[in-house]
Amino acid sequence: MRPYLLLTPGPLTTSETVKEAMLSDWCTWDEDYNVGIVEEIRKSLVEMATKHPEEYTSVLMQGSGTYCVEAVLGSALKQGDKLLIFSNGAYGNRMGVIADRHGIAYDMVAFEETMQVDPEMVEKNLSRHGDVTHVAFVHCETTTGILNPLPELARVVKAHGKKLIVDAMSSFGGVPLDVQELGIDFLISSANKCIQGVPGFGFIIARRSELMACKGVSRSLSLDIYDQWETMEKGHGKWRFTSPTHVVRAFKEAMEELKAEGGVVARYARYCKNHEVLVKGMESLGFKALLPAAVQSPVITSFLYPEKDFDFKAFYAELKAKGFVIYPGKISQADTFRIGNIGDVYPEDFERLVETVKACREA
Ligand SMILES: *Cc1c(COP(=O)(O)O)cnc(C)c1O
Repeated sequence: MRPYLLLTPGPLTTSETVKEAMLSDWCTWDEDYNVGIVEEIRKSLVEMATKHPEEYTSVLMQGSGTYCVEAVLGSALKQGDKLLIFSNGAYGNRMGVIADRHGIAYDMVAFEETMQVDPEMVEKNLSRHGDVTHVAFVHCETTTGILNPLPELARVVKAHGKKLIVDAMSSFGGVPLDVQELGIDFLISSANKCIQGVPGFGFIIARRSELMACKGVSRSLSLDIYDQWETMEKGHGKWRFTSPTHVVRAFKEAMEELKAEGGVVARYARYCKNHEVLVKGMESLGFKALLPAAVQSPVITSFLYPEKDFDFKAFYAELKAKGFVIYPGKISQADTFRIGNIGDVYPEDFERLVETVKACREA
């Protein structure tokens, strides 16, 4: 069932039991599905997001993570609102593309892809632009693997009384955080990242009062987070339109496996260990990580090409044949490739990977 491990940050390697959970069919109208699976997931997601769940609620949405980002921006920003986006990679930039398409008034402050979003720059920009109503940024920029300083950034945004939207796609479930303590109004993530489910839907953890304010705002029917939430809430787990039933069932299994592992803190520790084994091993073979350790997330690691004429295609094909699928780089300033640390993968897998890379390099 596993021709190779996906060392890619989503879709990623899932457990056999997560895949097996998809082997039965589910009726979207039946309460075994709605109440038993969907409502359980919605509740568990909020409990995973904060120790103070009363003020928060969750919405599941068909599609990949980007659908949820678009749904939030299109549902939360009304006529007259203004969005300020801080970006240090492709996913931050994508929020700008979404805002453009929706005709949302916004400004984009761009940082180098190897630099964290800087809280001081956020402070400066918010002091200057009083008309901003919402701030958005990415927690872990999967473009490079850089982790933005969420607590410091959130503190500045909240001190200015702005609404805060966080793309925590590749960090939620794998990096500890508390939406209530941070003051996050909308947090977005998806099934196929740190919770280790299969792709097919995303979700939004929203401050209840802010979600209520989304009523009637969206100009998209299918991406209206208020309507989606209302149907789920009143219908006790009912989705508008066909729900990805098998994917949702697999996700419930994935959530249970995350709990069994010891929750987000334990998963974070495993990802950190994966990352550590990987970097130590790769460095011993002469590879260099793109980012300094201080800003690196345990989610995905970018490595510089070891020499100018490095043949990534051949390297990729050889690793794949030996059981590991890695990722090409995604930045323009340097030649890099990326290796994901998340999924149903363990330090032993990374030890084997390093051995395999060593054999490739010596051949
Ligand atoms: C994966 C990811 C997304 C969503 O990408 P999709 O291809 O739509 O799933 C958005 N932001 C970040 C930071 C991501 O890692």
